[in-house]
Amino acid sequence: MSSEDTRPVRVRFAPSPTGKLHVGGARTAIYNWAFARAHKGTFILRIDDTDPTRSTEENTQVILRAMRWLGLDWDEGPDVGGPCGPYKQTDRLDTYRDAAQRLVSEGRAYYCFCSAEKLAADRKAAEERHDPFQGYQRSCRGIDPAEAQRRVDAGEPYTIRIKVPDGRGDVAIHDAVHGDVIFNARELDDFIIFRSDGTPTYNFATVVDDADMGITHVIRGDDHLSNTPRQVMVYEALGAPTPVFAHISMILGPDGKKLSKRHGATSVEEYRDAGYLPDAFVNYLALLGWALDGETTIIPRDVLAHEFSLDHVSKNPATFDPKKLDWIQGQYIQAMDTERFVFDVLMPELVEAGLEREADPTHPKAWYLLLADILKPRTTLAGDVVEKSRFLYEGDEVTFDERSVEKNLRGDYAPAALEAASRALSGVSEGSWHAASIDAALEPLPEALGTNKRKFYGAVRVAVCGNQVSPPLGESLELLGRETTLARLERALPLAQ
Ligand code: GLU
Repeated sequence: MSSEDTRPVRVRFAPSPTGKLHVGGARTAIYNWAFARAHKGTFILRIDDTDPTRSTEENTQVILRAMRWLGLDWDEGPDVGGPCGPYKQTDRLDTYRDAAQRLVSEGRAYYCFCSAEKLAADRKAAEERHDPFQGYQRSCRGIDPAEAQRRVDAGEPYTIRIKVPDGRGDVAIHDAVHGDVIFNARELDDFIIFRSDGTPTYNFATVVDDADMGITHVIRGDDHLSNTPRQVMVYEALGAPTPVFAHISMILGPDGKKLSKRHGATSVEEYRDAGYLPDAFVNYLALLGWALDGETTIIPRDVLAHEFSLDHVSKNPATFDPKKLDWIQGQYIQAMDTERFVFDVLMPELVEAGLEREADPTHPKAWYLLLADILKPRTTLAGDVVEKSRFLYEGDEVTFDERSVEKNLRGDYAPAALEAASRALSGVSEGSWHAASIDAALEPLPEALGTNKRKFYGAVRVAVCGNQVSPPLGESLELLGRETTLARLERALPLAQ
């Protein structure tokens, strides 16, 4: 068995549609995608839906949507097709049946007629005699094939078991992440590849597909490491080359336990809805167990697609760190150019919040560019822009934040501050209503009134914007417009009395 495969790289991500796409699955998908891209190979998406009780079409669609949002384009798979389709296991049942029949006819697999009761009794007996081998006792392995076929034809219920060759010995694999791993021959039993209900088992269907699809590298979670010796048995029985295996570590929550709902959001959808950018999210997940050089944290998608290699994947569990994710997200937001921020972040959020209509924007483009300029440095998650923009959409009647009013409009300096601001701003004409002239008009007032700057600007800000956390004042008032600003100052006066 080789640790290197010289065939053109073909990898697959094979989610079971039993739920949403989780962070761990997304990272597996990213590694497969990046490995394919970095090796000019083929990335295949396959839907492993052979567990009919837990797989649903709805989950399949959710997973496909999440994959698209992540920007992990697949070369073969659902929607795009390809030469090895279909790419959904329930559409491939004939392939598994044919493969199992072939193994039976070649004597590499056999029919088993043992009842569940017999199997349970055998297991119990093995336990009682402390037999180190507690697997299937191979009771049906010796049945003459012609006799077995007669029983099958007569309608007797059966399963199909793989025949582990006599003297096979230990199974050694060279895992690209874990290194050499040896599985004791004693753990190999003649396991079931086809159930009595006519469905293939996971270990069989997966290998038939991976062999058929020419998969060269199996990159997946290390919860599947223990399945690997059985899968190697199937490759050998099928006479197919064994791929390189790379089992990647678990993702842990901050408390050191396997990442789960208890730790917060675990599905890709939740991160999408929370306002993360797919590029930032992919960058962060890629770093959970892989490093470019041990230092670089911002790794754009194209670099990942160029530089990813299995050599730099760690076998130690990685810890999910939401703070680092937010930091990376902030970096991606800050690096966006203003126009892209308007189209990819600001507008979609304002539309979703019902403040704007996509087809019919309220303002000219320059207005959004100015808003984007002042919001971008104050944004981590896309949704942050909504609360910071809301005051711009409230006409003359801004919503006041009670605490801000208490703190900033109740002092005896407040009425004078608002009146002075109103007078000064009335002197700025409509035509020169820009942040610079607005700032210049307000600038001398605190000193003239004998009030400190913080109190003065606090009062004006709350009167016009409704709260203390709005973006810089000059730009805010420019965006709001002269008339609305003056109207709001007037309306706030009674609050300041
Ligand atoms: N359908 C399996 C899972 O979702 C894939 C395992 C594999 O990659 O072999 O865990």
